[in-house]
Amino acid sequence: MGSIVTEPALADLLLPTLLPNSPVGHIRMRADALPTNVFGSNVRGIARESEWDRIRLAVSARAGKRCQICGGESFGPKRRVQHPDCHEIWRFELREGGVVQVLAGLIALCKKCHNTQHVGRALDLEEVKEALVEVNGWSYADAHDDVRRAFAKSAQLKDHPIDLDLSLLRGQLQILGSPDLKFTAAERTTLGNSWTRARPSPQATELDIELT
Ligand SMILES: [Zn+2]
Repeated sequence: MGSIVTEPALADLLLPTLLPNSPVGHIRMRADALPTNVFGSNVRGIARESEWDRIRLAVSARAGKRCQICGGESFGPKRRVQHPDCHEIWRFELREGGVVQVLAGLIALCKKCHNTQHVGRALDLEEVKEALVEVNGWSYADAHDDVRRAFAKSAQLKDHPIDLDLSLLRGQLQILGSPDLKFTAAERTTLGNSWTRARPSPQATELDIELT
């Protein structure tokens, strides 16, 4: 007698992952993983470096240079305090025409909390679970289940074409020909990518000329 295992509905897997305003004793952070078909297609990859620097430094300043989830500082070489990472918070909306990845916010995170948002490429999943246990007061089993949910979410999303909505950054990010900062899945492949570093920026063009 085998039990029937049903795949969880995608909508049930799409829970908010970062809740910096949660009161003590409530969930502040869930694990997350992006679908592989949108890897690198993000603000950092699309913005000019000067635009991204301005955005991330403003996020750090607003957070008092601390992680907005655990309150910890970030350290660089020689244990010097450095700016926390600037993480893009995404909301995936299931619409009639397909899936839209909406930029819902930007948040300052320490490395440990940031790793929980990219479990697909985390080097140490035990460390991810430890961070979830510490921040949420969860049991190890809670954290384990949540990491599984994040993987299931990313696995299901990757089979859909995913449009991109960066309208949150109107006025801070300039993309020629796209004042509303909304892109179809096909359009977004022509934008910059933080993984391949294919930046259609003037700096990149100048560099190419110098190299030839
Ligand atoms: Zn943290």
